[in-house]
Amino acid sequence: MEQKKWHQMGLSELQEALDCSPDGGLHATEAEKRLETQGYNELTEGARLSPIVLFLNQFKDFMVLILMGATLISGLLGEYLDAITIVAIIVINAVLGFIQEFRAERSLRALKALSAPSAKVMRGGQLLTVAAKELVAGDMVVLESGDRVPADIRLMEASSLYTEESALTGESVPVGKHAGTIQEEELPLGDQRNLAFMGTMVTRGTAKGVVVRTGMRTEMGKIAGLIQETEAMETPLQHRLEQLGKLLILVAIGLTIMVVVAGILHGQPTYGMFLAGVSLAVAAIPEGLPAIVTIALALGVQRMIKRKAIVRKLPSVETLGCASVICSDKTGTLTQNKMTVTDIWLSGRALKVSGEGYAPEGDITENGRPVDSKHDLPLKRLLQISALCNNAQLVRNEAEGAKRRKRGETVPEEWSLKGDPTEGALAVLAAKLGSSAKSLEMLYSRVKEFPFDSERKRMSVVVSHQGGRLLCTKGAPDILLEHCSYVLWDGKVLPFTASMKRKCREAAESMAHSALRVLGFAYRDLRSADSCESEQEAERALVFVGLAGMIDPPRREVKDAIVKCRRAGIKTVMITGDHGLTAEAIAANLGIIPRGGRSISGQQLEQMSDEQLEREADDIYVYSRVSPQHKLRIVKALQRRGHVVAMTGDGVNDAPAIKASDIGIAMGITGTDVSKEASALVLSDDNFSTIVAAIEEGRGIYENIRKFIRYLLASNVGEILVMFLAMMAGLPLPLVPIQILWVNLVTDGLPAMALGVDQSEKDLMQQQPRPAKENIFARRLGWKIVSRGILIGICTLGAFWITLKEGAGDAESLTRAQTVAFTTLVMAQLIHVFDCRSSRSIFHRNPLQNKYLVLAVLSSLLLMLGVIYVEAMQPIFKTVPIGFREWCLVFVAAGIPTFLMGIGSVLGKPSGKNRKTKWPIGPQTVSK
Ligand code: ATP
Repeated sequence: MEQKKWHQMGLSELQEALDCSPDGGLHATEAEKRLETQGYNELTEGARLSPIVLFLNQFKDFMVLILMGATLISGLLGEYLDAITIVAIIVINAVLGFIQEFRAERSLRALKALSAPSAKVMRGGQLLTVAAKELVAGDMVVLESGDRVPADIRLMEASSLYTEESALTGESVPVGKHAGTIQEEELPLGDQRNLAFMGTMVTRGTAKGVVVRTGMRTEMGKIAGLIQETEAMETPLQHRLEQLGKLLILVAIGLTIMVVVAGILHGQPTYGMFLAGVSLAVAAIPEGLPAIVTIALALGVQRMIKRKAIVRKLPSVETLGCASVICSDKTGTLTQNKMTVTDIWLSGRALKVSGEGYAPEGDITENGRPVDSKHDLPLKRLLQISALCNNAQLVRNEAEGAKRRKRGETVPEEWSLKGDPTEGALAVLAAKLGSSAKSLEMLYSRVKEFPFDSERKRMSVVVSHQGGRLLCTKGAPDILLEHCSYVLWDGKVLPFTASMKRKCREAAESMAHSALRVLGFAYRDLRSADSCESEQEAERALVFVGLAGMIDPPRREVKDAIVKCRRAGIKTVMITGDHGLTAEAIAANLGIIPRGGRSISGQQLEQMSDEQLEREADDIYVYSRVSPQHKLRIVKALQRRGHVVAMTGDGVNDAPAIKASDIGIAMGITGTDVSKEASALVLSDDNFSTIVAAIEEGRGIYENIRKFIRYLLASNVGEILVMFLAMMAGLPLPLVPIQILWVNLVTDGLPAMALGVDQSEKDLMQQQPRPAKENIFARRLGWKIVSRGILIGICTLGAFWITLKEGAGDAESLTRAQTVAFTTLVMAQLIHVFDCRSSRSIFHRNPLQNKYLVLAVLSSLLLMLGVIYVEAMQPIFKTVPIGFREWCLVFVAAGIPTFLMGIGSVLGKPSGKNRKTKWPIGPQTVSK
């Protein structure tokens, strides 16, 4: 008999076909075996650039081709020494270029690997998170809202599961899924409702299922070739620099032609001038610029990873430096997401809960006296709902404790949590009084779940018990109360009167005032006629039981991070699904709301028009009880006000806002795959201060790019000018071609790269954010390039001229003058490189701070000394050894550009400090 299709199979047939166990999943060793035969669960990638190709690509560069032409001509003219030296320089250049690009490419690949997807799978009876590529057919996988489906999965259980399959079927509306069997044999993909397909997204609900196909055998695999994503990894700055590079080529070639023509007209030999022209063009074009920019970006990104921020899209590194508003979630990002229930409110009674962390140890007291939970009906009910309407698991870390106990240490039992911390806190509460989920599992079996999501702000389960069914619901009190018609008051179920509801609300508000996160609890006994197919049918006419308030302490480091933001001209906005009063209490504690700052709720937001929101957005610091779609409106309003907005999110519905923001940020620990994929930055510790660290790095990277652009271009202006002025003045060539190429090599390579990894200036985070459209040459960078370049050119020519005039007018004295010019040019650049580190002057920074730069400069210096003093090098580089007098001249001429301008900066007004903080700094009060 032909094997049935996956969607036609029942549970036992699936088990048999795939040799798997739905409860415990595959054993780890079995999974390993299958991985060997089935291969990784991956879609094969397009070909990667091999290192050899990358190396050979270096020779495709336009300038290298010109140089090769020059080599050929020198060779043909019999100038073999010139030819060999040029070839050597080309090869060294190519090796340097290769190293730069190889490093850049490798770090980009490492970044991609960091954001590789994972899957929740049962292995050997335990729920584990493994890399999605390690899944095999027969694995039992758990799916939750926000997950990207990791393989083709036949569902075995599904609660309100919806997946978005547009990549596969073109259907843009999420489709409902179920775990039943479908009889028809031939079904289009869209109708195979009991299968979840690799690469599609879970938009709602939860499910369990078995992997039936992996890797290229999946439906996505079949069309993988068509959907290979090619993500633009070039940043706007890289793009602009490429344009600039093209312009510079034209300018350099134009000027070079002028130099060559002027030289020939003044009687210089044609071949010499041709070679000088080619060398000058090569030196004047900053061909290393794009690679160094990539390296600065890639190394910066690696530094960010160390600070727990993973960049998914390279362009965002640049945008990070421009961020002027951070919209942050509260729970887990600003707070620790370590919840502990401290207060309970039951129909007019206020109870206190003791105990800390996840250990189920502590008491419940009322007016200081312990409460007997066994005989307190409302409390029993609340604990029962806490335990049943809960997906979190408390785990006792026995192994570690046992080891330490063996060593004779007395250690308390250690507990940890698997699942949502809010539910964890409730599981702990229930366990403190003996109502753990495990003990209730025997009595109640779950029939159905209506999962929590931040839109509904509640969760319900239906459980069966002794032939009856019970609905348990928990959620945000203000929302839950709307679904309650009865209340459990003093142990009796009574109609829920308006005054009772008011009392409940007041109790919830008073808890929220003390920064507690508040949840309400309700239930309904379902009669056999009551349908609970949909949430609407189930979650109505509920009996309200009470409230629980839990603390979620703010993260300690966040307060300082917010002060830092404010000094850096970055506004922090809290956007939370939590109650307004809870949000305000925490915002006040963290110093988010300045005097006059406002807090509004999602409801108020809904009543505002887009225009009104745009007008008022600058004054609003807290948005509470918002739904994910509100986030999108907030982002857009802030953007219309000209802000560059960073927005965090974790849920599946946050993706549109994350995408629309300038820097979308997802949570590495609690975030869904959907939010991560929409984001530009992932916080591996979910921490707000990591965003601030990333912004600081972003600003630093941009400033470093400006530093080496300044350095490279000023050097090039100097090089062209010295040749140009000499030719115009009818002087001999101040630099021979090989010297020009050498200057290019020793100054453009290592020192420029070292600038790319320079430390930031101290006041980096005390300046206003840079406008997004700011020109790279803004803040007087253009002026600095031109002024330093001109001075370098003039001083080098001056040194050349003085030495030439002092000489006897013979060939030896010309070579001496050329050696002095050569040394002056190199030294001027090696001094100027330290000046480039500061936006003010060389005197404002410790020159020894950047060790890479010191090493790079020393090695360039050594190479240059070698070229002058090693006898074998002298004929190649046309140099002679120079003495003390000449060195004095070299130092004076090389130092003038930097020190003269430095003294000017010290005496004049400081530049680059003109961006003042815009957001108010002051004591905290809230207005509404
Ligand atoms: P943030 O957006 O800052 O992360 P949040 O985590 O407080 O905010 P949500 O997770 O959307 O926001 O929660 C909103 C409200 O829903 C909470 O205030 C709480 O009352 C309720 N709630 C939270 N988690 C659950 C849950 N697992 N089950 C039922 N209700 C919940």
